[in-house]
Amino acid sequence: MTHRILILGGTTEARELAARLAVGLNTEVVLSLAGRTSEPMQYPVPVRIGGFGGPAGLADYIGERRIDLLIDATHPFSAQMSRHAAIAATETGVPFFKLCRAAWQKTEGDFWTDASSIADAVGKLGKNKRSVFVTLGRQELAPLSSAPHHSYLVRSVDPIDPPLAVPEARYIQARGPFALATERELLAGEKIDAILAKNSGGDATYAKIHAARELGIEVVLVRRPVHQDVETVDNMKDAVSLAHQRLASAA
Ligand code: NAP
Repeated sequence: MTHRILILGGTTEARELAARLAVGLNTEVVLSLAGRTSEPMQYPVPVRIGGFGGPAGLADYIGERRIDLLIDATHPFSAQMSRHAAIAATETGVPFFKLCRAAWQKTEGDFWTDASSIADAVGKLGKNKRSVFVTLGRQELAPLSSAPHHSYLVRSVDPIDPPLAVPEARYIQARGPFALATERELLAGEKIDAILAKNSGGDATYAKIHAARELGIEVVLVRRPVHQDVETVDNMKDAVSLAHQRLASAA
């Protein structure tokens, strides 16, 4: 009997989990991407791209493809997709869990300002001009135009087009992981005095937080959206083992 697994991805963890589960005998893994990144990474399993058309569309896909296990391994800020996955899993009864890396925790020496949203974070940069390093997705930058008095250095995977409607903005295109030494050099060299980021968690983009701590730079950090009450694991080992358990009990 072949087990069909659908992984909702867009993250490093989704890619790694797909590779781990695909090596199992009689396992077919499909990884789903929203299709926002113009040059997605290479994946070790077949990939499907684009929205499903809401929870009902995802439920149809699960039924039509006879999916045996659904894993939500989307980004911690992909609240809508996670909500849709939970609804579709309930509707179809497909075994389901979520893989979500743990949030970063404040440690001694961190100078963090908590924000509930990106707009809130921009407001918390204050009225005086700051030199701000921004590490948000390109679709999340609109609130920056409400604070045109700051100077922004924006780092993103895809180019920012059109550019921000603010007088001082520069852009860097780069994909993590980022090393501590280079982050330290960037922050110090650019005389950054605030970072605007999401609490994405994980190692790949943590170096900026570490470098900010060393340099005494404020990090205005957008907290995560609240997720549904879904069984969640935060590491690869538990995700692989739970996937096998769920498939075994379904069989
Ligand atoms: P979202 O707002 O949760 O999703 C919006 C819609 O996109 C979903 O309703 C769904 O459309 C489609 N979608 C999202 N993920 C999908 C997937 N894996 N497969 C198929 N369709 C998918 O999420 P988002 O707009 O993708 O991202 C929201 C936040 O997450 C942003 O903060 C973004 O920066 C962050 N994010 C970060 C990374 C990263 O750093 N690696 C990757 C992704 C997202 P339908 O309703 O039509 O099914």
